[in-house]
Amino acid sequence: MQRIEKVAVLGAGVMGAGIAAHLANAGLQVLLLDVLPHEPDALEKKHGLTTHDPAVRNHIAATAVEKLKSAKPAPLFLPAYAKNIEIGNFEDDAGKLGTCDWIIEAVVENMAVKTALFQGKVVPHLKDSAILSSNTSGLSVNDMAAALPEPVRRRFLVTHFFNPPRYMRLLEIVPCRETDPEVVSFMAHFLQKRVGKGVVFAKDTPNFIANRIGTYAGAITMKHMLETGLTVEEVDAITGVPMARPKTATFALWDLVGLDTVLHVTENAFRSLVTDDEREVFRVPEHAAHMVQEGLLGKKVGKGYYCKEEREGKTVRYFYDYRSGSYRESAAPTFPSVQAAKGIDDPAERLRTLISGGDNASLFAWRVLRDTLIYAVKRIPEIADDVVNIDNAMKWGYNWELGPFEILDALGVPAFVKRAEVDGAGVPELLKKVERFYRREGAADSYYSIPDGDFRPVPTTPERVSLTVLKRSGGEIERSSGASIVDLGDGIFCLEFHSKMNTIGPDILSMMHKAVQRAERDGAGLVVGNQGTLFSAGANLMLLATAIAEGDYDEIALTVKSFQKGMMALKYSKIPVVAAPHNLALGGACETCLHADAINAYAETYMGLVEIGVGLLPAGGGTKEMALRAMKLAEENEADVAPFIFKHFQQIGMAKVSTSAAELYGLGYLRHGDTVTMGMDRLIHDAKLKALALAANYRPGAPETDLKAPGRSVAASMKVQLWNLEQGGYISEYDHYLAATIADVITGGDVPGGTRITEEYLLELEREAFLKLCGQKKTLERIQHMLKKGKALRN
Ligand code: NAD
Repeated sequence: MQRIEKVAVLGAGVMGAGIAAHLANAGLQVLLLDVLPHEPDALEKKHGLTTHDPAVRNHIAATAVEKLKSAKPAPLFLPAYAKNIEIGNFEDDAGKLGTCDWIIEAVVENMAVKTALFQGKVVPHLKDSAILSSNTSGLSVNDMAAALPEPVRRRFLVTHFFNPPRYMRLLEIVPCRETDPEVVSFMAHFLQKRVGKGVVFAKDTPNFIANRIGTYAGAITMKHMLETGLTVEEVDAITGVPMARPKTATFALWDLVGLDTVLHVTENAFRSLVTDDEREVFRVPEHAAHMVQEGLLGKKVGKGYYCKEEREGKTVRYFYDYRSGSYRESAAPTFPSVQAAKGIDDPAERLRTLISGGDNASLFAWRVLRDTLIYAVKRIPEIADDVVNIDNAMKWGYNWELGPFEILDALGVPAFVKRAEVDGAGVPELLKKVERFYRREGAADSYYSIPDGDFRPVPTTPERVSLTVLKRSGGEIERSSGASIVDLGDGIFCLEFHSKMNTIGPDILSMMHKAVQRAERDGAGLVVGNQGTLFSAGANLMLLATAIAEGDYDEIALTVKSFQKGMMALKYSKIPVVAAPHNLALGGACETCLHADAINAYAETYMGLVEIGVGLLPAGGGTKEMALRAMKLAEENEADVAPFIFKHFQQIGMAKVSTSAAELYGLGYLRHGDTVTMGMDRLIHDAKLKALALAANYRPGAPETDLKAPGRSVAASMKVQLWNLEQGGYISEYDHYLAATIADVITGGDVPGGTRITEEYLLELEREAFLKLCGQKKTLERIQHMLKKGKALRN
């Protein structure tokens, strides 16, 4: 059976290093090679090193790995994963390629360099079963394959990662004419499951799918901007979130990527797309070429389409005025249509609102959309066989909320055609015949297959459980405004949150009890998870702020108690509960996970007990649970409880949030036996498997009644630390007060160390402290600040 355990990455530049890091994240053994440097650097020379020393010979890969450990955003889940990357160079280490199962090439974008490397250093060493791929963004896979011997061609393909490889979900697979279809499907499966990527199948055409459409979208935006005379920042105000795209919009994105890179890709399109009827759109405008000459490349040099400077203690922003070739101070433009669209959650509704606004911005958005969508329609079957691959490419590679064909459905294809025809835009005949591109009904999604002229099921696998599909095909057992119970089959139910930001309020808590009861009565286990953009931002602060403002402390006391009851119901149910967090799991959401029997987290999970940021302590059992875990750890290790409890106290006191799921083990939020899923679309399936496995031999627990409190002396030493921090100016007086309150609770209250306490008693301490903090003016200020600004206030 084909297996990939050891991978070689050729080239330790931006992409090679990032890919190596992410493969190490996936638990693979990585060999990272690059060229020999021409000469030792100054420091090496000072130490008397020459080009014969390995330290010099491996310099490029070694430096790249060193940078990985501290780069932001972090390419590695944990800096320690760097040890899975072995470094070397093409001259000394090519022989090691014989031990690798997959070799991915990521050297400079130059056909001659790549093929020479294949022929000289790779092919002579490849083992028969090894797979060879290139990360090229634009070179022809068939031209590259021509340089390879026939048996290697069958195992050769393009695997095109997006930058940064850890965070961008898209991976384009482009086979050459001779690639064995089995190799293609093996790699697709491997890259999805093990590496966590969203795989799209592209063809051997310039810039493949995402960069072809994405570059067009940018270029057509530029064209309309120059025609209408809108400013750069006006265009960005329109083409970001209001158009269901990331907030970097058009020109801020170019600044981020680097204007030289963007223009290089655009020029490449212009040069190679000789038969494209929209080729002229890709012609680089004079002002942009001039900017590159002037070195105005964007973020990496601090100046591009935007720049900023500090003036009298304030940051002043400027944008590039392409007419005068100089910078102008930001005018923070607003348009009625943009304002109307901005606050709308549903991207389809947002787009409809924007393009029907009637002002200049609305008209601009419509024209850009119109041309981009028509361009995408005309690219099938040239760049992809179907709409699904194009939509996924744009969502995963460019972070669009909707793909081009989903946008057409959102606008209504006939309505789109009508308006585009009024403009005299060349509407493809095909569009006039199609009502819509997706049917989302019944047990499977289907898409309109352009070559077949009929609907086909959207390809899926049993591992890609879709809660949306399950719910609409009879699997939704109960629903409230904030949550649903969904039948996952095989006796496993799912408690799905779907409130705004998935915040937890009374409706979710009541559904939590129902879900536990339902699974206990009719099933074998429960999964708590959802497929929204984030797992949950925590408890509903809006409700709390209102209750505090009204002085309704009885209500608050009831709410906290019911939160705790919900958590305890999860923890001590008769069936196993598996939490499946992804993306954000903060405060109350973290507490929910801590009360599950096990966690199966998505690799990108940012979890933490952050209540102190809003002037509170975790009182849904979070402080209690971390106290209890510390006590248990001390007991298991026959050690003093102080270091364990201190660590947990610090995490809560500093509102520590993980930067990856891997980090959660070190924080004690994930435990031995908890697992991490690399691919988001498998998360619910993996959690279900875990629940089933636990259900086989499940023994329900009972609330702890014999715990040894760390006691007041441990709390006292925590407070000494807090005093020092405040004296040193590291924390505010109010931070000190809050953390001291947490110290009192986490150590078991004002009792001597070793006093026997119960889990219920710790919950009581949490509630008391919570109510006390709710009565503080500064806590209300913190909550209100969070609600208004989405950021913690340190008052
Ligand atoms: P880079 O310039 O950062 O790195 C290129 C690496 O190639 C360097 O480490 C360099 O030492 C090495 N190299 C230079 N000359 C060589 C030679 N003669 N023989 C062997 N190696 C040599 O480039 P990058 O951005 O990492 O791009 C690498 C590949 O990935 C390219 O094919 C590029 O098109 C593709 N790609 C880039 C991006 C991106 O956003 N940068 C995204 C997707 C794909």
